[in-house]
Amino acid sequence: MKPRVLIVEDEPAIVTLLRYNLEREGFDVSEASDGEEAMVSVAEQRPDLIVLDWMLPHLSGLEVCRQLRRAPETRATPIIMLTAKSEGQDRVRGLESGADDYVTKPFSPAEVVARVRAVLRRTKPATVDEILSYADVVMDLANHRVVRNSEPVHLGPTEFRLLRHFMENPGRVFSRDQLLDAAWDRDAEVEPRTVDVHIRRLRKALNHADRADLIRTVRAFGYALDAEAA
Ligand code: CA
Repeated sequence: MKPRVLIVEDEPAIVTLLRYNLEREGFDVSEASDGEEAMVSVAEQRPDLIVLDWMLPHLSGLEVCRQLRRAPETRATPIIMLTAKSEGQDRVRGLESGADDYVTKPFSPAEVVARVRAVLRRTKPATVDEILSYADVVMDLANHRVVRNSEPVHLGPTEFRLLRHFMENPGRVFSRDQLLDAAWDRDAEVEPRTVDVHIRRLRKALNHADRADLIRTVRAFGYALDAEAA
């Protein structure tokens, strides 16, 4: 099951950015735009981790954090605070209020994803299973390594993301457009045909030493990871 992250932030652009990056990294994302909505979402959805903005309407992030820490059912839910305040004193206040970590705005989405992983690894190791396996392929996401039949497979970054998407959804058929969404930057101008080029590279890397082809081509539609493909 995917780890669930609740984003509490009133700026839609930041929510969109975080949602996109977290979903792409395999998290299930929900959102709340103020503190009260956050309390309701937490009770209903039981997120594994909360990304909480400091500056929120009505109830400040700091106050939300304190309330979450007071309630027995959310006392242990990890919280990462987003803050525009970089002064040391505010960081201390954030951590004193019970946050597990904080990220200062402006941040890179990759940094937030890395913090989310790190905090989950520390507080709820079972939720961040960083090893994916399918047939004789094993992907170690933390160390960016892939092996097939115990032999290393060398992949470029795009092929790595493609394989990861397939490994997270084995057997499912994806169109070229869906694969573009999953493995390419949203803003990149990429032809759907480019997907074919990278699938070819992925196949070549995976199918070394005459291993069976794990990728199934679905005519006029797309591709799937499928051990019965050959
Ligand atoms: Ca805000």
